[in-house]
Amino acid sequence: KELAELVAGGTVDVLDFPKPGIVFKDLMPLFGDGPAFKRVIDGIIAYHDSFDVVAGIEARGFLMAAAIGYSTGAGIVPVRKAGKLPRPAFSASYALEYGEATLEVSEGAFEPGQRVLVVDDVLATGGTAEATLDLIERAGGIVAGFTVLMELGFLDGRQRLSPRPVHALLTV
Ligand code: IMP
Repeated sequence: KELAELVAGGTVDVLDFPKPGIVFKDLMPLFGDGPAFKRVIDGIIAYHDSFDVVAGIEARGFLMAAAIGYSTGAGIVPVRKAGKLPRPAFSASYALEYGEATLEVSEGAFEPGQRVLVVDDVLATGGTAEATLDLIERAGGIVAGFTVLMELGFLDGRQRLSPRPVHALLTV
């Protein structure tokens, strides 16, 4: 099967989560399918030429980053929700439909010039990714790539990240 097919087959649409009117794409069945998970992780690794470290966005991005880091020997850096990191951190806030969210990366997480592969499960409006890429650059990393399992194309998050390249295994 193609990687896009594996992602589609491992996704369940959940109506009215986390709020009425939202259709949440639940990719946990993909993560729970060992052979499919391994193939998509290997596919992401094969797509990217070279990187030194993998940054995963809390929380499902952590699972992907850990698998990629283990398989390639690259280090892992967590991009965390506000208030979780024990040491001084760079912080970026962005607007949600209602309210605001903040993400953080520890100071000193990257050696200057380290090439960072950034991963997450879903790209929706792009706010999370935009804040993350900004944080990584402020922390001294160079964004070597950004890959998601699924892109919600109708929200046009990709446009917001332009000109940085976005790689999605499946666009819906
Ligand atoms: P964005 O900031 O609107 O692009 O939302 C992307 C972030 O929210 C990612 O960290 C995703 O994990 C999460 N997210 C948004 N929508 C979904 C969804 O339908 N399924 C799973 N995660 C989602």
